[in-house]
Formats: sequence, C-alpha cells, structure tokens
Amino acid sequence: MTLDLEAAAKERGIAYFLISYTDLFDTQRAKLVPASAIRAMARDGAGFAGFASWLDMTPADPDVFALPDPAGLIQLPWKPEVGWLPADLTMEGKPVAQGPRNLLKSLIAEAARDGLQMKTGVECEFFLITPDGSSPADMADRQPKPCYDQSALMRRYDVITEICDAMLKLGWAPYQNDHEDANGQFEMNWAYDDALVTADRHAFFKFMARSIAEKHGLRATFMPKPFAELTGSGCHAHVSLWRGDTNVFSDPEGELGLSREAYRFIGGVMHSARGLAALTNPTVNSYKRLNSATTTSGATWSPNTITYAGNNRTHMIRIPEAGRFEFRLADGAANPYLLQAGLLAAGLDGLRQERDPGPRLDLNMYTHGHMVEGVKRLPLNLLDALRALEASPVLSEALGAFVPSYVKLKTQEWESYARHLTQWERDTTLDC
Ligand SMILES: [Mg+2]
Repeated sequence: MTLDLEAAAKERGIAYFLISYTDLFDTQRAKLVPASAIRAMARDGAGFAGFASWLDMTPADPDVFALPDPAGLIQLPWKPEVGWLPADLTMEGKPVAQGPRNLLKSLIAEAARDGLQMKTGVECEFFLITPDGSSPADMADRQPKPCYDQSALMRRYDVITEICDAMLKLGWAPYQNDHEDANGQFEMNWAYDDALVTADRHAFFKFMARSIAEKHGLRATFMPKPFAELTGSGCHAHVSLWRGDTNVFSDPEGELGLSREAYRFIGGVMHSARGLAALTNPTVNSYKRLNSATTTSGATWSPNTITYAGNNRTHMIRIPEAGRFEFRLADGAANPYLLQAGLLAAGLDGLRQERDPGPRLDLNMYTHGHMVEGVKRLPLNLLDALRALEASPVLSEALGAFVPSYVKLKTQEWESYARHLTQWERDTTLDC
C-alpha cells in the first residue's frame, strides 16, 4: 500500500517535503512543499522547467513534473521537520526516458521480467575540506600513509558520528567508518540492499554528508581527485544478483565461490566497461583519479585496466569473497542512479550473450600489468569515454534515448574544459 504522505506528515511532525530529483549531472533539484499541499503534489507532481536543469530540454518544452515516490521518504535527521522524497520525472503524462531514476527503474523492471533482482552496496569516499575548497580541513592530518589513522579519525568524531547516528536512526544498518588513504579522506559503510534503495540512499548520503559537514564549518566533497598528489575518491560497488531469496552469483563449487552467471555478468561489465566509464566516471576530473601514476601513500587504489582478480585491489573488478564482486571503477562523482543502471545494463547483456570475462589475473596490475599482453585499458579522458558510450551497441540499446542526451550535454562540458587555458600549458608551451 502506498504511504499517505499527508497522514505521515501529521504522525511524524513533518512540516515540509522536499520533492527532489537527480538530473543527468547528479545535481539534486527540489521544491520545498508545505505539508498542507502534499496531497495534490503527490498525485500530480511538482512542476519544473526542464531546461533549467541538466535534462537535455529546451526553454520551449512543457513543464516537467516530479512525482514523489512515497516509499523513498526520508526525514532529514538534522532537520526532522523536513521529509525528502525522491521523485520520478514525467512530461505530458509520460516518463522522461533520460531521467536517471526513471532509467534505473526501467532496467530493474527488465531484470524482474527474468525473475532477477540486483542488490548492491556502495562505498562512498569523500574528503572533509576547508570551506574554500583549497585543502583538507585538518592541518594536523599530514601522514604520507594516513589510511585508518585513528587520531585523524577521532578529530572528526563529531561529524562522522552525526552522520553515522543518522544512518542508524534511518535503519540503514551502518557498520563501519574510517579514515581513508588520503589526508582528509573518509569512508562510511552501510548495508547493501536492492539497487533502487541503494541508489536513493546514495543520493541522500551525498546530500546528508555535505549538509552535516556544513553545520560543522567544513565542506564535504566527493570530487574524484581534488588533490593531485593524494589518493582520489572512489565509489566501489559490491554487486550480487538474486532470484527471490537465492543469490544467483553464489556457487560453492564455482571458482572463488562464484557461479557461471556471476562470471557472465562480470564478462558483460568488462565488455561494456569503456562506455560504462562515461556514467561511472562522469567528469573531466574523474580521469585524473584513474590515470594517476601514483600518490604520496604509494598507491592510487584505482584501476586503469579492464581486468578482474580474486581478492586483489589493483583491478577493475575484485572478487573479495563468494557470492559477490566489487566494481572498483566508479568514483565519487558517479550519479547514484546511472551507476546502478549502467551496471545492470552491462551485466544483463553479459548474461544474455554469455560473455566470457577471460582469465583471472592474480597479479599486481600496478607493478606487473605491462607483462600481460592484450589487456584492455580504461579511457584516458572523458571524451574517450563518451565516444565509447556512443559507439556501444549494448549500452545504446539498453539505455535508449538517455545516451544521445547524455553524450550531447557531457560533450558540451568537455568542450568547455578544452577551451580553458591552464597553467600547465603556459609552463610547457610559452617557450616553444
Ligand atoms: Mg575505500
């Protein structure tokens, strides 16, 4: 039964609802609606001018309506009188095909027609930096190998525990928080769930981390590579596929406890990886994480080849234990809905086409990658990834009208970057 939002507002003390949608560039857009007006909004949606956000629309297009999904209601833990509602976009009564949440829902429905459900967990890495964005906020956080630094973690106890307490209250089952591999970098983990639930939580987590950091006079950033010499922020996704209560990826007899279906799904993700990168690594800056030589900690922890391994973090795909794999390509800028949609599209293709992931490479790709012949590399920049997305029949077919819209807007972003003169060019070209 659908939750009655008006009644929920009375019961829970909600004065306002944020009817929120995520656009193609992962910006959350919202209208703040008083509880007295929620009944009509829940039925008809909140109106927006589509051109005013990244949706590939024109100023002449009719209104876009954001229809809130009551199942996704979250009361802001730091401002409980506000209820956040993820919304699906419609125009003239039809779903907007390029809307990221719509796209994910249509792929979830497609998997469900085969009796399948993807479950995922995401590991959101982020930095706590100064409000002006110039450096990590904690000036004492200076170790070259700062991962798991207990003192640096405890100096941020108030912020980290406020976010973790919020997740506990929301029932997300958070289970660990740590200082990550770069100065000023943290990661917080909560339990995996259905792909749509995880995508909504991922979107909300980014909003929440930024909001709570701000309260503490800090700034949280998910930028993939905010500091050239430090490890970047990934967003690793752990993936399993279910038929009812059965994990289809699990097979005690299979290699590393994974089934034939799991390897085919992995084969599909590897087959489409170059185009998929345009979704999972969606910014110019993303490729500075992927193609960084090394960092002051000694490792980038990010992949640059389309390879897989057992419990080895130097590949795009790691199989940490039976029944699931970890996709290590995505970064902090990944749109939560497009990340899941891309994985599901590529994986379903792997299952249908029985894609073979090839041999597992149990070696350190950072030091020994050059010794393996024929290894495919990830894109070197956003433009390469966009071209790969456009050229991918698998992704074009699975993601439909989304692809040309996304490629168009992101190519504009690339062109804006390409027109920009950098200090590096002056340093290397003034005396040419
Ligand atoms: Mg991590």
